Amino acid sequence: MRWSRSYIPTLKEAPADAEVISHQLLVRAGMIRKLAAGIYSYLPLGLKALARVERVVREEMDRAGAQEILLPAVQPADLWLESGRWEQYGKELLRFRDRNQRDACLGPTHEEVVTDLVRGEVRSYRQLPLILYQIQTKFRDEIRPRFGLMRGREFIMKDAYSFDRDADGAEESYRIMYEAYQRVFSRLGLNYRVVEADSGAIGGTFSHEFMVLAHTGEDLIAACAACSYAANLERAEVLPPDAADPAPPPPPREISTPGRHTVEEVGAFLQAPARDIVKTLLFFAGGKPVAALVRGDRELNETKLKRFLDAAEVRLASPAEVTALTGAPPGFAGPVNLPVAALLADRELAAREGWITGANKADTHLLNVSLARDVSLTAYADLRSLGAGDPCPRCRGPIRILRGIEVGHVFKLGLKYSRSMNAVFLDEAGREQHLVMGCYGIGVSRILAAAIEQNHDENGILFPPPLAPFPLILANLDPRSGSCAAKAEDLYRLLKDEGLDVLLDDRDERPGVKFKDLDLVGAPMQLFLGSRSLARGCVEAKDRRSGLRTELPLDAFLPAFRQWRAGVDAGWAG
Ligand code: ATP
Ligand code: MG
Repeated sequence: MRWSRSYIPTLKEAPADAEVISHQLLVRAGMIRKLAAGIYSYLPLGLKALARVERVVREEMDRAGAQEILLPAVQPADLWLESGRWEQYGKELLRFRDRNQRDACLGPTHEEVVTDLVRGEVRSYRQLPLILYQIQTKFRDEIRPRFGLMRGREFIMKDAYSFDRDADGAEESYRIMYEAYQRVFSRLGLNYRVVEADSGAIGGTFSHEFMVLAHTGEDLIAACAACSYAANLERAEVLPPDAADPAPPPPPREISTPGRHTVEEVGAFLQAPARDIVKTLLFFAGGKPVAALVRGDRELNETKLKRFLDAAEVRLASPAEVTALTGAPPGFAGPVNLPVAALLADRELAAREGWITGANKADTHLLNVSLARDVSLTAYADLRSLGAGDPCPRCRGPIRILRGIEVGHVFKLGLKYSRSMNAVFLDEAGREQHLVMGCYGIGVSRILAAAIEQNHDENGILFPPPLAPFPLILANLDPRSGSCAAKAEDLYRLLKDEGLDVLLDDRDERPGVKFKDLDLVGAPMQLFLGSRSLARGCVEAKDRRSGLRTELPLDAFLPAFRQWRAGVDAGWAG
């Protein structure tokens, strides 16, 4: 491709709404343009990079025995009513009516459609296992679309679905996809971690997320420094404290704490550390008030609370609701005589007694509270988030907290859709059985953003070679010189014959502009030809990542180029 005839509108400045580097660079490199919030057009360079991701994904899916299909983006509401998700899915599901007043939605995911496809056709165990996949545009009306391709409303996903005759088969499909995912992300040159995304509480059902490590990641990961344990912080289990039988404290006693609402204020006023204080947090789950207790120096993990309560949604009580429940302004809630439907305490609180808590009375706290003696607890539960330095739930080694971008997710569905949508097959004995399903997603467009978050410098993108729209850009620094132009064309053809997708920068621009643009768009290999280098009989080669420049002789160009290229690739592999 020739730059002079390509649509690569590079920009000096990033748009004001681009908060993260990948968003800034994707726009500046002329790869994407915004149409509306979370909705982007892909320009030639962006589309080429996307195609590189898709190619690796396709090759690994095909290798794993999955078959490619393409499902519709528009989905009838009927299927979603059948699965029960028409009501459940919430506002991320973009719903609309067609001219015949039939409800429909834009597919955010395709479990319903693929289950419908398969239930009509798969009749016998002999047709199983079956894995189908597609690479397709999804729409999710995200509440906060942001960070460019990282969290779009319209985005490209690879979604795969497995169908098996029993749990063992489903396990095997899961393993096959898990391994295919590892190959995909390794081949793309991403630094990633596989993390547990569910604790395995429900009948061995669990899922794994594939996280690209980056400071800008929206997900927090607990990773053990000693063993291979890694889990999404939403799920990472905090070990229960060692068994203890603390002696009961003296009876609770009120103490005046005028105007002290927060743990910090109460601690400072009573000269007590935060870990002597119990925070009482009030929520509503399924319309009922629920209280959760955690130590003053800890953070409550709402996902864990939600899971423990098996609630679709939990919502923090408003200040007015807190007052209605406790009879006191916010900041003075406490567990003694608290009228809630469920009163849960973090497991850690069982290890000692004699807490400072709110008194459910304005400007007042209680000392010497015993959860065992003074409080009607519903249960102890794992409610707080694992923190840096906490013991690993597997080996007790020290936990580190990392940030990641979720680029893939493998998930066991079990019978969720085959039951609700009646997708069955006949087993060897001629008995009707439900299909056991799994689903597997890769954020194809998000990978571009994640790769750039991980690979950039102050001058632009550093594309890992397998992802680069062009692995090599050859810039003619003297486009007005006939001999330079002729030599550049020669080299261009030679390199194309090497099987390389080369971009020839033949624009009538100053060298400075070209140097900047080439660095910005991030081709791993750059070659510069100008009158001066031509006179010396060489072409200048620059390794984008290391910045190292080398001169390659024109009279023995190919062998020298091949050797140099191997060095560039090795720099990425190492
Ligand atoms: P998240 O927690 O980031 O919202 P999710 O759990 O909703 O992700 P899945 O439903 O598992 O995501 O979708 C599969 C993959 O699709 C994700 O791993 C992610 O890489 C990608 N993805 C999900 N939502 C978006 C989005 N809004 N923009 C871009 N990619 C997305
Ligand atoms: Mg989501």
